[in-house]
Amino acid sequence: MSDSTRRASRPVDPPAARVASPAPTPTDRARVWAAMAEEAEAFAAAARERPVMPDASAVTPTALRTWLAHRYAFDAPVPLAEVVADAMRRLRDGTVHVTSPRYFGLFNPSVREAGVLADALAALYNPQLAAWSHAPAACEIERHTLRRLAALLGLDADATHATFTTGGAESNLSAVLAALAHHFPTSATTGIAGLGVRPALYLSAEGHHSFVKAARMAGLGTDALRPVPTTDRLTLDPTALAACIDADRRAGWHPLMVIGTAGTTGAGVVDPLGALADVAAACGAWFHVDAAWGGMAAFVPRLRPVLAGVERADSVTWDAHKGLSVPMGAGMFFCRHPHAVARAFAITTSYMPPAGGTDTVDPYATTAQWSRRAIGLKLFLALAELGVDGYGALIDRQARVAEHIRDALRGAGWLVVNETPLPVVCFTHPDIRAGRLATADVLRGVYERRRVWVSDVVVGQASPAGGERVLRACVTSMWSDATDVACLLDELEAVRRDAARQR
Ligand SMILES: *Cc1c(COP(=O)(O)O)cnc(C)c1O
Repeated sequence: MSDSTRRASRPVDPPAARVASPAPTPTDRARVWAAMAEEAEAFAAAARERPVMPDASAVTPTALRTWLAHRYAFDAPVPLAEVVADAMRRLRDGTVHVTSPRYFGLFNPSVREAGVLADALAALYNPQLAAWSHAPAACEIERHTLRRLAALLGLDADATHATFTTGGAESNLSAVLAALAHHFPTSATTGIAGLGVRPALYLSAEGHHSFVKAARMAGLGTDALRPVPTTDRLTLDPTALAACIDADRRAGWHPLMVIGTAGTTGAGVVDPLGALADVAAACGAWFHVDAAWGGMAAFVPRLRPVLAGVERADSVTWDAHKGLSVPMGAGMFFCRHPHAVARAFAITTSYMPPAGGTDTVDPYATTAQWSRRAIGLKLFLALAELGVDGYGALIDRQARVAEHIRDALRGAGWLVVNETPLPVVCFTHPDIRAGRLATADVLRGVYERRRVWVSDVVVGQASPAGGERVLRACVTSMWSDATDVACLLDELEAVRRDAARQR
């Protein structure tokens, strides 16, 4: 070997960083991790005492931007322990704490330790799940977990394509794309313009608005979303659905997809899935069930009957980060037509690793994502820790806490307006209906006091009775108990009395 070759093959030292931060020593690192563990304990221990919302007078855009501009110009390095401590404090004080047992909020769950650990492990090893061959262990962990959940839904795990997604929005988009590829095998090449018909999606007004985006992203346009009236119970009306489809067909529409919602975002009601499956079958439409939140009922023998008919779905959306108490983002997509999914997402490149074999699939070629983190690890850890029955017991408990909220509200003179066995309660007050009190005033009062969090929603826009703005309390924490329900009622009553006094 010549001298010059030897010199060239010597490892090259990177140029010294201009403003070097001393690399953290093992002791420094151990301290940061210890601080993390301490914060996890302290955060959980004070879950009830801590205000569920930030102090709106202190946590303003100006205050946050001033802090960031002064501390983090990113010109000089900040020791890791210092920035971690600062981030902890700012996040703790500047967040609506959806994990609080007093957050009766949107579908954002409390999280189990298993989920936090899993997300840390996913970051530590950073497995790349785009290609099976890069992350065999993580891919098989996900596959195994999804097969169990498919079985809980009553789907045939062997015949079902299942994948983790970023959330329900991605799952619903995947469903629309798979349905298009199934109905129109050449659409992946020709696009919508080449179809010669206008595909229609049928969804009730109580359904999720991610379908508005899905219709746009799939190139169908929002006109493709055909509104279907609901019944007084806020469920999609199958008779009205059949009539809509008939009328649309005569006007040149192609019924692509019937969407049943299992656990609507507003009122938590479940559409009559079996009847919708019948209508879909009769007109040849794809039947999709959006069980983003309500899928959790599959874990609870007492609640599982509300999902009857889901096993007939062509595809199902189910979020682990809604009802299954794992950190965001963890959605799931199940589909009984793997060939349609393959057609929708198939891709080949010269630079991706070759497929692992006939028995494995590469997620980048069967889903909307490319680079992909180990999303399913958190559900795997939590499910392994609890077991199916243990998981079910937690979900069942949340549903019983919601029963308790209904009873307590009625006992205090409030009116419960939705009918569902799932843990979301929509309610109003006779004073609100009589115009003596405004829903917005109740919310403002609750938010000023910061002890509990509830939301409001308009339900029933497309029902015979018309829409009504109501209050909404959802049990999203597996830790919520009777003391939290008592706190919720105290807060609502205090706000109502204040409002009455001010009139
Ligand atoms: C939350 C929700 C979605 C959207 O899911 P993300 O996980 O937020 O993307 C879709 N459908 C229903 C019924 C939902 O409740």
